[in-house]
Amino acid sequence: MNLSDISSIKKLLSSQGFSFKKSLGQNFLIDSTVCPAMAEAACDENTGVLEIGPGIGVLTEQLSKRAKKVVTIELDQRLEKILNITLKECDNVKVIFGDAMKLDLSKIIAENFFDCEKVAVCANLPYYITSPIVMMLLESRLPIDNITVMVQLEAAQRLCAQVGTRDSGAVTVAVTYYAEKEILFEVNRESFLPSPNVDSAVIQLKIRKEPVIKVNNEEKFFRLVKACFAQRRKTLVNTVSNTLGIDKSVLKNALLEIGLTETVRGEQLSMEEIAQLSDKI
Ligand code: SAM
Repeated sequence: MNLSDISSIKKLLSSQGFSFKKSLGQNFLIDSTVCPAMAEAACDENTGVLEIGPGIGVLTEQLSKRAKKVVTIELDQRLEKILNITLKECDNVKVIFGDAMKLDLSKIIAENFFDCEKVAVCANLPYYITSPIVMMLLESRLPIDNITVMVQLEAAQRLCAQVGTRDSGAVTVAVTYYAEKEILFEVNRESFLPSPNVDSAVIQLKIRKEPVIKVNNEEKFFRLVKACFAQRRKTLVNTVSNTLGIDKSVLKNALLEIGLTETVRGEQLSMEEIAQLSDKI
């Protein structure tokens, strides 16, 4: 069965009485070029791939062809019968039904990919939880080589922005801390069924062996990062003192010592400058 062919998909879904749930971010890919390109970028024959949200298995099938093993986590139990049909011939695929945000991914990886040289995450992510999933994957320090995921174009631009520019946000700093990031290609909204209101992009995060900068206290660093971007129109001094309750004079002095002015905004700081500020306050 061609899983990217719109009439085959519609026939399959209606034969199983399936209806899309918008609340689960169910927009299935119907462009035959996208999944092979994603799978090619994410893995090779020595890779164990963790997929989040297989839908009807269009990307899963392409991962199965290229990877050593695939474990795919789907929240919607209604897709079980469909996946039994579409992945019938994919012997190296295991489907787990559950919430990717709640399952113990570290255990899943250890139990399933112990004989794989590396582990990758590849997914067309449900858009309602893109950033939480990406952050969970990065912060839990799973033994992952790369994360290759489809996200909304706007989210891709934010996640992959240059720190210190207007496009960046707290999530940009966090991603940069843990990974090298790149937008691989854009995907038109017409490539999905049903078609969403926005375009998408596939991004790749290559996980660093060590964070890009050293900080004395990681928790304090990330609290400062969140505070820097909490009130974007305000100066860093105002937003950080409002959010974290730090005295303005302490912040002003610390900024001067780093060589920055007291009128600087949070989004203008580089990774190194945020790290230096976090170590000083
Ligand atoms: N991979 C398929 C494709 O590319 O056509 C489907 C992608 S669709 C954008 C997102 C999928 O994630 C849906 O199948 C949805 O049911 C599933 N999903 C939503 N929330 C989830 C969660 N918390 N954990 C696991 N799967 C989830």
